[in-house]
Amino acid sequence: MSEMILLKNLSLTYAPGTPLQRQALLGINLSVAKGEYRAVIGPQGSGKSTLLQVMAGLLTGEGQVTVGGKDLRLPKNRHNLWRQVGFIFQYPERQLFEDTVFNDVAYGPRNLGLNEAEVQRRVMAALAAVQLSRDVYHLSPFKLSGGQQRRAAIAGILAMEPDILLLDEPTAGLDPRGKGQLMDLFSHLCRQKQVTLVLVTHDMEEVAHRADKVTVLNRGRVVMEGSPREIFCCRKQLEDVGLALPFAAQLANALQEKGLPVRQMTTLSEAEQEVTRLLT
Ligand code: ADP
Ligand code: MG
Repeated sequence: MSEMILLKNLSLTYAPGTPLQRQALLGINLSVAKGEYRAVIGPQGSGKSTLLQVMAGLLTGEGQVTVGGKDLRLPKNRHNLWRQVGFIFQYPERQLFEDTVFNDVAYGPRNLGLNEAEVQRRVMAALAAVQLSRDVYHLSPFKLSGGQQRRAAIAGILAMEPDILLLDEPTAGLDPRGKGQLMDLFSHLCRQKQVTLVLVTHDMEEVAHRADKVTVLNRGRVVMEGSPREIFCCRKQLEDVGLALPFAAQLANALQEKGLPVRQMTTLSEAEQEVTRLLT
C-alpha cells in the first residue's frame, strides 16, 4: 500500500477514571498517502497535537494506528519510530541541549550509528537546508536568536532524513520571512523527496497554497476532509467550528454577496485571475 499513516477508529482519553478525565480524540479514521502534504486544522483544544503525538508513537489510544507500515500497538514499533518519523512540535528549540549547534544536529544521526563522515554530510546538508549561517555552527545553541534556535532544532530532525515529518505549528512565532523559508523547505522535501508531511497550522493561506488534502478536527472528531478547494467552499461549516477562510475565499464571498459573478477561489493567484477577468 502507498499509505504511510493509517488510523482506524482511534480514540484517546487523557487521565481516564480520574476527575480530570478528558476525551481528546474520538473515532478518528484517517489515511495519509506516501508523499502527501496533509494539513490538519481545527480550533484550540480540538485534538490536533494529541493526534500528531499518536502518529509519532508518543501517546497511545484505542484503535488501530499504522505508521510507515508499523503497527504502533506494539511497544517495540513505537520505540523504533524515531528512526523513520521526524516530529517537530511547537517550540522545538526548547529541546536543544548540546554544547554546539553542530553537535546538537549530529545527535540524532550519531544515535543511528552512522559513521562520522555520513554524520558530517547530513549535519552540513541539514544546516544548509534551514539556512543557518556557517559562523554559528560551532556556537552554543543558547547564543543564537530565537529564530536561529528554531532552525537549529529543525535541522536536527531533518538530519535524520525521515520518511515522515509531523509538524505541529512549526513556524509559530517566527517573522513572515523566516516562516516562508521554512514552509518552502517543507514543501520541497515533500515534493522533491517524497517525504510524507502532516502539518498542524492556523495559517489558512499556507493550507490553501500548499496542502494536497485538509483534515478538520473539532472536539476530537474529524468533521471535514477534502482538498483545500473543497474545504474552503464550506464557509458556514468552517465558521461553525470557529475557523477563518483564506483571503481569496473571503474575497470571493464578499464579491458574490455584492452580486458579482465570481467563481470560487482559494489561492491568491486564482483571486488575481478572477479579478482580472472581472475587470476586463
Ligand atoms: P489542540 O492541539 O488542537 O489545541 P490538544 O490535542 O492539545 O488540542 O488537546 C485536546 C484536548 O485534550 C483538550 O481538551 C486539552 O485540554 C486536552 N489535553 C491535552 N493534553 C492533555 C494532557 N496532557 N492531560 C489532560 N488533558 C489534555
Ligand atoms: Mg496544539
